[in-house]
Parts: sequence; structure tokens; C-alpha cells
Amino acid sequence: MKSAVLVDAGKIEIQETEKPVCGENEVLVRIKYCGICTLEQRLFAGDMKIYYPIVPGHEAAGIVEEVGSRVKSSIAAGDRVSLDMVYRCHQCYYCRTGQSNLCENRFAKGIKPLGGFSQYVAVEPQRVFRIGDGLSLQEAAFAEPVACCLRSLKKLGVQPAEDVLIVGAGPMGLMHLQAALVMGARVFVSDVDDARLKTAQEMGADFILNPAKQDAAEFVKSQTEGRGADACVVTSPAMPALEAAFQSIRKNGRVNIYTAYMHDKPALPIDMNTLHRNEVLVTGTEGRTEFDFQQAVRLLSFGKINIKPLISRIAGFSDAAEGIRAASGTETQRVLLELD
Ligand SMILES: [Zn+2]
Ligand SMILES: [Zn+2]
Repeated sequence: MKSAVLVDAGKIEIQETEKPVCGENEVLVRIKYCGICTLEQRLFAGDMKIYYPIVPGHEAAGIVEEVGSRVKSSIAAGDRVSLDMVYRCHQCYYCRTGQSNLCENRFAKGIKPLGGFSQYVAVEPQRVFRIGDGLSLQEAAFAEPVACCLRSLKKLGVQPAEDVLIVGAGPMGLMHLQAALVMGARVFVSDVDDARLKTAQEMGADFILNPAKQDAAEFVKSQTEGRGADACVVTSPAMPALEAAFQSIRKNGRVNIYTAYMHDKPALPIDMNTLHRNEVLVTGTEGRTEFDFQQAVRLLSFGKINIKPLISRIAGFSDAAEGIRAASGTETQRVLLELD
């Protein structure tokens, strides 16, 4: 089989690799599409290191080719599926208490992380989710990031009719927007890029705002009887984005620092007294559980979450490097790698 292998920072090679054998308690899937997420962009740029060589990719979808003899689920060859590419041990404290996104053994020795930029993968049956007939495999590759957004909004305890501010209108911001709308929230989306804001508006944002042109906090407060947003998700790693979040939140509001990748480790732009007096809750979220994944697949299959506007480009093996570069720019939302 063919794999796009990251042999070093900035260097991706298409290599002939060994096709996995389907174990008796595994499902062998022919991967068709895999999203190029921030993680892949960081690995490619050398900003983040796991090890080289590595086959990146964790947002995959494909067709079941073989089912092991001891698999008990109804999954069958020919089924179209979304793939949960993250290993979980099902034995640690977190796995056993419904918090498998924090599994202690996700990256344990001997576990091959990622791997979606390959033509085949063999995984445990619980990591394979059958998709609805109306959902394309390209769309199904979005189950993973949508699941992360559901985890994020659930952690914030978003309720129907609440005001949610999403800072950043990149792919994660816009998937948060869709998920928050499904949960019954009124959604504000802020970004300094007007083209991205336009997409947010087309995808159903109740309010869009550009903090380069207007005071974000003032605008949110003007629409919420002076209070501010009930909850806020920060999907941009820029410090002004984080500042805007804290300025726009109401008393007893909740903030999720969803994207926090910064080379230095800055302090939060809020002082302890304000946190104390305003009862601001601050959290981050990491990944998603199998339950979040299941909900994401169902919402995509039901047509309740529409990610079609986020597919900016499909790259093949031959232009994988160019695809990753394009994915890092603000002129694209999501770029998918086609494993053909
Ligand atoms: Zn991702
Ligand atoms: Zn575990």
C-alpha cells in the first residue's frame, strides 16, 4: 500500500509500506480521505515533534474491506465508515470513568499514533463508525474534529438559548458554530478576516464581528443586555483572541481555551481578583470520547451539521506537501488528502 510518510520536518515522501493484516478482533479499512488538521501542519512545519518518520493523519474515512472473525458488531465489508484513529486502553482510570479522551495510554510505547495518510488501517471495531447513506466519505472525514467541538461545548455546559461567542472563524471555529447551533445556542463569531466571517454568516452565525474594526466585547454586551456571552470558545492561538474572550464573558461565564498553541507559555489575560469576583470558569478541552465521536457521526449523517463549505481543496498523494502548505494558510478552511 501507499503511505504519505513524514520523514523529517518539511519533508513528506510517498512510500510503499506494508499493508496491515486484519487481526481477529480488528476491522481493516481502505481509507479514502483524511483531513489535514493543525496537528499535521505542526508536524510538517517542525513546530511539534512526535518522532520521524511518522505517517500523520487522524481525520479519516473509508470503506471496510475485512472484518476479523471475533468482531461482534454488525460492521461488514463494504460499509462506509468514519474512523476514530486514537487508541484507548479501556483499562486506565480515565477510560473507566467516561473520560477516554484523557486515556493515560493513548501514546504508550508500541502504540502507533495517527496513520491516516495511508491507504489501509486495521483498528479495533469500536473505532469504526458506520455513516449514513447521504453522507459522502469526504464529509465523513470531519467526524473527528466535529466530535472535538461537541466535547468542547459539552464541557462548557452550553444550554439552549444561551449566547455563545466563538473566537476565530477557521475550520474549528466554524465547526463549533454548527455544533453550537444544533445545541440551541445563539452564536457570535469573531475573526479579523472578513472572508472567513462571510462563511460564518453563510453557515448560520447569528452575529459576526471583526475585532479589527469594532470593539468585540462592547458589541457582544450590546446584544446581551450588557451582560456578555454565557460561554466562549477560543479557537485562535492569538493573544488578542484570548483577551477578547475574557472581556466578552458575563459574570459566571465559561471560557474554553480550545486552541492554545503558543511558543511561549503566556499567563492568562485576567487577574485573580476578577476571576474570583466574576466567578469566571476557565477550562481547556482535549480530544473527544467515543461517545462524542458517535454523536458527531450521527449529526453529520442526519444533515444537522453541514461541513461542506469547509472543504476547500482535495490533494492527492502527488501534491501532499502542497496540500499541507495550503492547509496552513487562511485562504483555505480544510484540505483533504485523497488516498488514491
Ligand atoms: Zn483534527
Ligand atoms: Zn485508558
